Amino acid sequence: MSETVLNAEVMVLGGGPGGYSAAFRAADLGKQVVLVEREPVLGGVCLNVGCIPSKALLHTAHIIHEAEELEQHGVSFAKPNLDVDKIRAWKQSVTKTLNDGLAGLAKQRKVTIVYGTGQFISANAVAVQTEAGTVQVNFEKAIIAAGSQPTKIPVFPNDDPRLWDSTDALALKEIPKKLLIVGGGIIGLEMATVYHAFGSEISVVELMEQIIPGCDKDLITPLFRRIKKQYKNIWLETRVTAIEAQPEGLKVSFEGKGAPESELFDAVLVAVGRRPNGKLVGAELAGVNVNEQGFIPVDKQQRTNVPHIFAIGDIVGNPMLAHKAVHEGKVAAEVVAGHKAGFDALTIPSVAYTDPEIAWMGLTENQAKQQGAEYDKAVFPWAASGRSLSMGRKEGITKILCDKETGRILGSGMVGPNAGELIAEAVLALEMGADAEDISLTIHPHPTLSETFGFAAEMITGTITDLYIKK
Ligand code: FAD
Ligand code: NAD
Repeated sequence: MSETVLNAEVMVLGGGPGGYSAAFRAADLGKQVVLVEREPVLGGVCLNVGCIPSKALLHTAHIIHEAEELEQHGVSFAKPNLDVDKIRAWKQSVTKTLNDGLAGLAKQRKVTIVYGTGQFISANAVAVQTEAGTVQVNFEKAIIAAGSQPTKIPVFPNDDPRLWDSTDALALKEIPKKLLIVGGGIIGLEMATVYHAFGSEISVVELMEQIIPGCDKDLITPLFRRIKKQYKNIWLETRVTAIEAQPEGLKVSFEGKGAPESELFDAVLVAVGRRPNGKLVGAELAGVNVNEQGFIPVDKQQRTNVPHIFAIGDIVGNPMLAHKAVHEGKVAAEVVAGHKAGFDALTIPSVAYTDPEIAWMGLTENQAKQQGAEYDKAVFPWAASGRSLSMGRKEGITKILCDKETGRILGSGMVGPNAGELIAEAVLALEMGADAEDISLTIHPHPTLSETFGFAAEMITGTITDLYIKK
């Protein structure tokens, strides 16, 4: 084993969406960059075991459901025949295309990639354990982008192959007959959507009184009503107390409001959140503070307590979302390159790619109330949208909150098919300081779901004709 030494103006630790964006932006700004990644491919959790593979499977699930529901419109198909190997191969082909694309983008920018696990050995060097030996990367500036990993519950039989985390669920090794999902958050519900479409009997157990607890209840209700009919059980205010590995299945015991008798499942997916990797990168040897939870605190320039070391993405705090990591990565790269940049986005939108999708941005109504904000609210029902009805769906809503005095948009949420695409307009409206009148006077194409955002604004300005609202 040999030791190689590389020198970098900028060393980026972690090649996920945060890390590769930071590396590419820094290179575009003229910096000589070394990117360290422990996996043999770039893309991190998002591309390899997160956003992209889950959306590939969700797309398949969506088509299966749509085909089923078309029966009500007079078209029926035979029961789908699932070739799990082919579905998995297709999902992997999507990921591989993007992996290759990233490798190409790195090459075009002359970013040096060192594949191996990096640990800080001082405030100016990391040691990377690669297949060919140790590579020491000396750097002038560093950006830590080492991400997060699934939270494990230590008392569960974590070595049993029937106990899954999100990576196991995405590996699509088998379609269990009975699948229990612990945690009714975004991962749990997206995976429930996939495995339900693929034929598993789904049960969900959630600690809080509502699924996706951070979101307003009125946005959750249409999803909750639909999946309550589809899934075997949704136990709220309930937790798992024990899981016992038995030859015929995992025997799960529960406690709480909805707690059933203990029950056997063929597989259990634990999706109770993710924890940051801050304690796993040798940060202490660089003098970088890591808090008790494993997050690395940063300022608005993404700077840690050590002025030439920056951190971005899941490792710096919630929400753990790819688009937040990318934005922070660009800020860090620009600051590193001497630009006057900072994180000053007004909102980070959230999307659950369930069916229906739920998306929200800005203030939730719960937050607006907690902050004592004076707001006007409008909720446009998609049952009055021709486009939504044409799609056979009427459960959606578009909600908008505007400042009572200025009319400026404060927050918005949507639930319904494609809500995740529609929320971008609300984000732009917030960033541009739009008020309800700006939105209502913006001509939205007809018939589209995007109109529902304009209609909600018209409800606030009192100009709506697509609904009758008594004065
Ligand atoms: P990561 O993507 O975690 O990347 C960190 C990288 O650092 C990894 O490649 C890792 O191998 C590497 N690394 C770690 N330690 C070291 C080390 N010591 N040396 C070298 N390399 C190291 N977010 C969304 O916005 N939309 C979604 O739809 C979405 N879906 C998701 C679905 C699932 C199932 C999961 C699990 C997550 C999902 N997320 C989604 C969250 C998203 O994946 C993360 O927020 C995002 O990947 C964070 O990016 P990051 O660059 O901070 O870290
Ligand atoms: P989460 O925090 O979204 O949800 C976890 C859920 O588990 C919560 O509802 C919580 O109340 C519940 N819970 C916690 N402990 C429990 C217990 N012991 N028993 C039962 N329920 C329990 O976390 P996640 O779904 O694991 O996702 C992790 C991260 O990945 C999130 O930060 C999310 O932002 C990100 N992610 C985003 C997307 C997306 O943007 N579409 C998709 C997947 C993941």
